[in-house]
Amino acid sequence: MTNGQHTEWQRETERCTRLYEGFAEAAPFVNAAYRCIHTFFEDHPITAQPAADPEEAAQRLRVGASLQMNPSLATADVVDLLRKLGAALAEANPDLKGTARALEGRSERLLLDSQDSVGKEDIQRLFASMVEVGELEQDLATFLLTLTLSSLYRRHLQLTGETLRTELWREGHCPLCGESPHYGLLRPEDGAKQLECWLCGTRWVYTRIKCPFCSNEEQDDLGYFTVEDREMCRVSFCRRCHRYLKIIDARKLDAGGDIMLAIHNLASLSHDLLAAQEGFAPGSGLQWVNPREMAGAREDY
Ligand SMILES: [Zn+2]
Ligand SMILES: [Zn+2]
Repeated sequence: MTNGQHTEWQRETERCTRLYEGFAEAAPFVNAAYRCIHTFFEDHPITAQPAADPEEAAQRLRVGASLQMNPSLATADVVDLLRKLGAALAEANPDLKGTARALEGRSERLLLDSQDSVGKEDIQRLFASMVEVGELEQDLATFLLTLTLSSLYRRHLQLTGETLRTELWREGHCPLCGESPHYGLLRPEDGAKQLECWLCGTRWVYTRIKCPFCSNEEQDDLGYFTVEDREMCRVSFCRRCHRYLKIIDARKLDAGGDIMLAIHNLASLSHDLLAAQEGFAPGSGLQWVNPREMAGAREDY
């Protein structure tokens, strides 16, 4: 990387700073985390899993069966990545020094407990227990969890991801790894709705009027709302299963190149709070709202 060169994530945080009121404060922190990830994988290249057989994969997708690929992750890589992320975040925000130390201690234990490899459930448990004992706020835990896991998954599953015939897929969960999405977009060229897996990054086109979580197609039960000054992002909800995901209207973006939805997600966390206040749960299962904020919001009424 040459000096002064704009990286993909910097472009997106700058764009999101313009688009979403209030994101400017968090943007340097987000940049520091992405820079850390980028440097980490330059030093620790991941060998992708061999690609799944394209014909077999296509056959599964045709019958609505996700490949459910869940790579086992080298514990040493995960621990090293968590330590470096903790250090980078403490540098960006000195208030997080205690958090970085806690993360360091937890990582050490992961190395002792699980030897060679861990799965996503192990990492999910690690962060859940840190939140439980108050070592981490919920939103920061979800940020670290999604960033760590998704950066590893994308690299491990890259070869299958590149050849996957997502146009054959009709379901609301990920054809490659099976996760449920937290966000998607309306494609600039034709307004088609595409969902994106927060974990492995796979995108696929999905029916516009249908809940990805319960398959409800009753127009009266489906809707969306948005927030003043942050209209790019819609909270798309279902009154039948009371779940939501966020859809970025990329038709409103003058976007050259690809759109990093993960950063739009971070820039629009106020939408998640509103969705929670309206009684909707994230269909992805990812908790981005701190219980404290919910309590605070109720007092404001
Ligand atoms: Zn996936
Ligand atoms: Zn639903």
